[in-house]
Amino acid sequence: MDSYFAVQAMEVKCKLCRKNLFNNKPIQLLTSHSEIKQNLVDIGCGNTNDTDSSSYLPIENVPEWIVNIVNQESWTKGRLYCPHCNNRIGSFNFVNELKCDCGQFITPPIRITNSKVDIKLN
Ligand SMILES: [Zn+2]
Ligand SMILES: [Zn+2]
Repeated sequence: MDSYFAVQAMEVKCKLCRKNLFNNKPIQLLTSHSEIKQNLVDIGCGNTNDTDSSSYLPIENVPEWIVNIVNQESWTKGRLYCPHCNNRIGSFNFVNELKCDCGQFITPPIRITNSKVDIKLN
């Protein structure tokens, strides 16, 4: 069977310490519309003015260090820091449903700030 959709894996490194955030495992990032990012500039929404654009993590596929942080906050909300150097790289919010700028989509709860990391197509 042909796979119709290319499953686009990305490599994500901390911009500050340059270490891989996902144990060198390729990861699929999501757009604010919960779609798999197909390229680095894919933000999913034609209607956003989010200049400091973000990527989102699929909840079923996050590494253990993120699960631990989220557990510590009892699945409410908080900030994500690089496990290697403590640089702030994003945030999570399981309390409020945050809408995309277009107002039609709820963004995924775990967010990575693109400017804090280096993302490469794998
Ligand atoms: Zn949108
Ligand atoms: Zn780091």
